[in-house]
Amino acid sequence: MKEFQLIAKYFTGRSQSRRDVQIGIGDDCALVTPAENKSIAISCDTLVENVHFYPDIPAKHLGYKSLAVNLSDLAAMGAEPAWMTLALTMPEVDETWLEQYTEGLFDVADYYGVSLIGGDTTRGTRAITITVHGQVPTDKALRRNTAQAGDWIYVTGTLGDSALGLDILRNKQQVPGQYESYLTHRHYRPTPRVLAGQSLRNLASSAIDISDGIVSDITHILKGSELGAVISVEDLPLSEAMQASVSNDEAIGYALTGGEDYELLFTIPEAQKGALETTLGQTGVKFTQIGQMTQGTSLRLLKDGESYIPANYSFEHF
Ligand code: ADP
Ligand code: MG
Repeated sequence: MKEFQLIAKYFTGRSQSRRDVQIGIGDDCALVTPAENKSIAISCDTLVENVHFYPDIPAKHLGYKSLAVNLSDLAAMGAEPAWMTLALTMPEVDETWLEQYTEGLFDVADYYGVSLIGGDTTRGTRAITITVHGQVPTDKALRRNTAQAGDWIYVTGTLGDSALGLDILRNKQQVPGQYESYLTHRHYRPTPRVLAGQSLRNLASSAIDISDGIVSDITHILKGSELGAVISVEDLPLSEAMQASVSNDEAIGYALTGGEDYELLFTIPEAQKGALETTLGQTGVKFTQIGQMTQGTSLRLLKDGESYIPANYSFEHF
């Protein structure tokens, strides 16, 4: 199969058409018409086999995840997804793999209204680079460097599930049978918090998505905003599956340092707390207050008011 046949079969016309796409796949460039009074938010992520994913990941899940992790970056800025390009490198043309990969990819693209407008197809070690473009009202994007001392720290969803799911997949953890598929799905199919991110535009003073674990990711907000923070580890939201599967200390370890949850961490000024309950409440996304921004530059962890030092738990970022 030639490259152009492959593109025609698997990519052209597969995603929904958007009125703001003048030219999609097929010419030298794609042409899009940005909306008025909006800024374009652009983010790019590469997933390389044996670095970011294991060869045994089902192709359909890889298709889903390769776009979902990019959408999570748009969510963290409060942007609305619009267009994407896909650079795909494969060792050989495997039609079964392509069929499943694109099924997963277009599942999530269609759900969020993202149009595939171009890309590149090459031979080599399997790797996927997606660049996603979104739109956000000018000056409304959520930043990392704009938190204020006293703002409350929140997260969406539950924490640590993806890392526990990965440990199950790698045979490093055994969990009660009824929780296994929930946890492995949280690893393979994270939910990008796209609507939640948009609903935070006029409420949050800063936001970031959680890709490396909150201890690592909150550091970007602390550095950017030149502040410290205190987090109460007993307030970290843990799924029923997490609580039923490991000890409380282990669960806190996963929640603090486990990667790839793709939840949002954001800060809310005291005056916006009421509005947050209504606005984010309407999206149906669970959110939990876990701490507060402080003066200084350090991150302090408390458990029942006492300083908390995490158990000797190390997360290997594969
Ligand atoms: P060029 O040589 O100009 O880069 P290509 O032959 O690589 O053109 O691609 C032809 C068209 O197909 C272009 O519009 C390109 O954006 C698109 N395309 C190539 N690979 C992909 C892909 N993996 N996904 C989506 N579009 C693709
Ligand atoms: Mg090309």
